[in-house]
Amino acid sequence: MKEIVPPPPPIVRNEHAEIRDLFSRYVVPSYGRFDLAFSHGAGSHVWDVSGRRYLDLGGGIAVCALGHANPEITEALVEQSRKLVHVSNLYYHGPQGRLAERIVKAVGPGRVFFCNSGAEANEGLYKAARKFGHDEGRHEILTAWNSFHGRTLAGISATGQEKVKKGFDPLVPGFRHVPFNDLDAAREAISPATAAILIEGIQGEGGITPASVGYLLGLRQLCDEHRLLLLVDGVQCGHYRSGEFQSFQRILSGVPGAEGFLPDGIAMAKSLGGGFPMGAFWLRETAHGVRLGEILGPGTHGTTFGGTPLGCAVALRILDVIERDQLAAHVRSTGDWLHGRLAGLADEIPAVVRSARGLGFMQGIELHPREEIPGMAGSDKPASMQAIHRLHEAGVLTIPSGNQIVRLLPALNITRSELSDGVDRIAAVLRGFA
Ligand SMILES: *Cc1c(COP(=O)(O)O)cnc(C)c1O
Repeated sequence: MKEIVPPPPPIVRNEHAEIRDLFSRYVVPSYGRFDLAFSHGAGSHVWDVSGRRYLDLGGGIAVCALGHANPEITEALVEQSRKLVHVSNLYYHGPQGRLAERIVKAVGPGRVFFCNSGAEANEGLYKAARKFGHDEGRHEILTAWNSFHGRTLAGISATGQEKVKKGFDPLVPGFRHVPFNDLDAAREAISPATAAILIEGIQGEGGITPASVGYLLGLRQLCDEHRLLLLVDGVQCGHYRSGEFQSFQRILSGVPGAEGFLPDGIAMAKSLGGGFPMGAFWLRETAHGVRLGEILGPGTHGTTFGGTPLGCAVALRILDVIERDQLAAHVRSTGDWLHGRLAGLADEIPAVVRSARGLGFMQGIELHPREEIPGMAGSDKPASMQAIHRLHEAGVLTIPSGNQIVRLLPALNITRSELSDGVDRIAAVLRGFA
């Protein structure tokens, strides 16, 4: 009789579970993560470790300006890494000087400091504001409610959201919050200690709210009257996300009397390095008769990794690609089209979608509160999270912004047909909740 040999057990390697296990044991649990583990990407698609493909409409939270595994970014990384990766800021090198020039040309006369993140870029602005006000005994910075400025101690102190501050007091003194887009509130809040006002051009974490034309122009005038610095956090809304280099340029484009508008400082990061960690801040050449661009003199500010040859070479290549492929115009026209399609969802599925908000490739789908959406009543998770989980099942990545907003921050080079596919899938998911 033939002996029956049982087959060997299949080698089941559940990579997803292995990764989850490593995180649960060794990684600080400071993030609420979705249950997805990714292995690779290409353009606006990413694949999880079991080979499932997703359309990435979150763009790594506005970071992956040219999508995933962009061959030109890879080429810039490889080319520059063969020459020089790092030398420290004790010396000069070409890429940092050239990148600073490009940023100045995109904004206006001024100077640029390079750092490694958005929080750090804002830190530089706080220090510039303190230095600016120092000899007059002024140090205070007004920021907006619902703003987000990063997770360092000064960052959470500047951020106008209680949830980021809880448990970390005492906070850094000298920040006060005022309602966003409310010029009178800003005017009334100014004290003899105030040195600067800091706002996002489009609030990102606070629900995709663009600054209004009147607010931007009014704040400029207010700052001029009171000798304050007007600072803009462009970390999320900058770098062509709105269709112009900075969102205030898009918001004010074509507005009579706004041609000469410039803030006194701008923070940048996220898309700047397209995934290579980089931040920067721009300071205006002169503000209120002070040479602001030179206010942080030798020895006053610094960071080891700021503006490395490698990071700057990548950022320069990204700017080249954006310019060559006319991605700013693409973001403007396709962003308008996208906004129209998302606004259409509010008409089509009014039981679920309240409105569409945003500019360019920074768009939010505002849902009703969970309790008011028929298909969401069974769970106590916020509406945005319920939608986003269901979208994962449908193969689409999006990002929550608060409890009611599903945020889209796609790569600047995403195609209209990819976006259209994404909106179709979003529509199908949201219809399911009606
Ligand atoms: C993400 C973000 C920051 C913080 O940037 P990090 O790189 O995470 O430090 C600051 N401001 C805004 C508007 C942001 O969106």
